[in-house]
Amino acid sequence: MMETELEKTTKLYEGKAKELWETSDDSLLISYFKDDITAGNGDKKDSMLRKGILNQNICTTIYEYLNECDLVTHSIRSAGPREQVVKKLKIIPVEVIVRNFAAGSICKRYNLEKGYKFKTPLLELFYKDDSLNDPLVVKDLVIEMGWASAFELAEISRQAHVINQKMIYFWQQYGIQLVDQKFEFGIDNDSNIMLGDEITPDTQRLWNKDGESLDKDIFREGNNLDQVQSVYQYISDLVCK
Ligand code: C5P
Repeated sequence: MMETELEKTTKLYEGKAKELWETSDDSLLISYFKDDITAGNGDKKDSMLRKGILNQNICTTIYEYLNECDLVTHSIRSAGPREQVVKKLKIIPVEVIVRNFAAGSICKRYNLEKGYKFKTPLLELFYKDDSLNDPLVVKDLVIEMGWASAFELAEISRQAHVINQKMIYFWQQYGIQLVDQKFEFGIDNDSNIMLGDEITPDTQRLWNKDGESLDKDIFREGNNLDQVQSVYQYISDLVCK
C-alpha cells in the first residue's frame, strides 16, 4: 500500500538541535534535524555541515534496532534526509541519564575518576528546564511536583535500563563502549509511556577501544569542527547500511 505524503503544518517547538512540526495527521509529528551543535546548555554554539543529515541517519537506525527488539518507541520512520516521523507524545519534563562508566557532570559532582565502571548501571533524573540548567532531582520531588507519577517513574526506570542493555549490545557489535546516555520519555494518546526524542552521538557518550571519544565530547572539549564532523560521519557509516 502506498504511504500518503505527510505534510508539515505548524512548527510546534524549536530546540537546540531539532524542530518539531505538527503534520496533516493529528497523532504524528515530524522531527527535523538541524545542523546546529551546542554545548553547556547553549553557551557554546556552532553549525556543522551535514550534522542534521548524519544524526537523522544514526537516530533512525538506532530506533529501527530498538523497534526490532520489540520495544515501543515514538519512532515511526525516516521521512527524508533530515526528517523523522514520530508519534506525538506528551513529554515528561524529566531527563533520564543512564551511566555505565563515569564521565562528564558526574565526575565533577562527586569527584569521580573518568572511566570508573559502575557495578550496575546508574540512573539519574534531571528536571528539564533550561532556565535552571536542568538540575539533578530526586524521585520524591518529581512526584511531589507532579512532573511524573510514582507509577510513571517506575515504568520509565524499567524501560531506561532495558534500552541501556540493548544499546550496550548494539555498540559492542562495533567495538564501541557505551559510556552514558540521556533519554526522554513521553505518553501517547492511549496513555502508553514510551521513549521519545533523539538517540545520537549528541545524547550518548561513545568510546572506542583506546578510550577515545566518538561523540559530542569532541565539540564540548575542543574547537575542531572538522574532527567532530568526521567522527559523526564515521558513526553514521558504521551503523547505517
Ligand atoms: O552532562 P552529563 O555528563 O550529565 O551527560 C550525561 C549524558 O547525557 C551524555 O551522554 C550527554 O551527552 C547526555 N545529555 C544530553 N542532554 C542533556 C544533558 C546530557 O543529551 N541536556
